[in-house]
Amino acid sequence: MLIFRQLFDSTSSTYTYVLGESRSGEALIVDPVLEHWQRDAAVLRELGLRPVTTLETHVHADHVTGAWWLRREFGCEIALSADGGADGPDRLLRHDDRVPFGDRHLQVRATPGHTHSCLTFVLDDASLALTGDCLLIRGCGRTDFQQGDAHELFRSIRNQILTLPAKCLLYPGHDYRGLTVTSVAEERRFSPRIADTIGEDDFVGYMQNLGLPHPKLLEVAVPANLRCGRPDAAVAQQAGPDWAPLRFTVAGIWEIEPAGLAELRRERQLVDVRARDEFDGPLGHIRGARLMPLEELAARVGELSRELPVVTVCRSGARSAQAVILLQKAGLKDVANLSGGMLRWIAEHHPVEPGAAARG
Ligand code: FE
Repeated sequence: MLIFRQLFDSTSSTYTYVLGESRSGEALIVDPVLEHWQRDAAVLRELGLRPVTTLETHVHADHVTGAWWLRREFGCEIALSADGGADGPDRLLRHDDRVPFGDRHLQVRATPGHTHSCLTFVLDDASLALTGDCLLIRGCGRTDFQQGDAHELFRSIRNQILTLPAKCLLYPGHDYRGLTVTSVAEERRFSPRIADTIGEDDFVGYMQNLGLPHPKLLEVAVPANLRCGRPDAAVAQQAGPDWAPLRFTVAGIWEIEPAGLAELRRERQLVDVRARDEFDGPLGHIRGARLMPLEELAARVGELSRELPVVTVCRSGARSAQAVILLQKAGLKDVANLSGGMLRWIAEHHPVEPGAAARG
């Protein structure tokens, strides 16, 4: 079964796409954004997917790719246009190449014009295409920098995208108005730039008079993307916390597994956010845990050291996830949730201090 996800970066209004095949668990990730690579990695893991390739529709000028970090995390290959001039990809893509995931694939189409190396990726059954910045919803990418060429863009859209089946869904690289998807039929009818009735010269005239501002991140993003997003030292902290083996979740918090906590040799603060009667109840609590019920936590943050990491725990891991968010808002840096709470801790046979009720 095909698994398809559209992810969003609200800073640059960029869409990232995950295409997975459930039987093999193989996936592709298209246009990942640096600041979200851990979110994207969590989405892949929670869907049971393993990325085999990261792809870029082009050398972006408005955000830095997360490809380098995803390759470091999963060992997937980085694929880019052969014409992009980037340093460090594992695979160079050319028109009509296939990029497989499980028994499915994306077909590569060269669609230059926004940049000279833009690619569109078409799913094997032509039910959907990822158009990058070539075709946007009722619009298209600008053509006034990065070797842009309005004539070339017109022909790319007309010949490579709008010739797809009318029902084919088109997913763009960006949208600035909250739209998420369009179709070949819709764009052929309603695009103010390139509907069927519009000629090449009309299009070029339109594009030459957009009067857009210079993109803010151009000087930063393009050189970084030409390195496939490989960081310099300044962004090395993107690797995430290193005080324990932690996992980032789609819910947006760091979690520690029971075994990871049991084996953690460094000093940490263990905060149990259940009610007193639960702490002293039949499930007991973990040795050294400090009882700070969730409803008291905000008022008692000052009792915690800011120097030592904190692990939060509750019955099932839900209230303690809330506690992580609360402690982070209070300015604590290294905070993680015990995954699955006391229930999982006990199920995995870790030692428990009996509660007062159990002792009595
Ligand atoms: Fe672009």
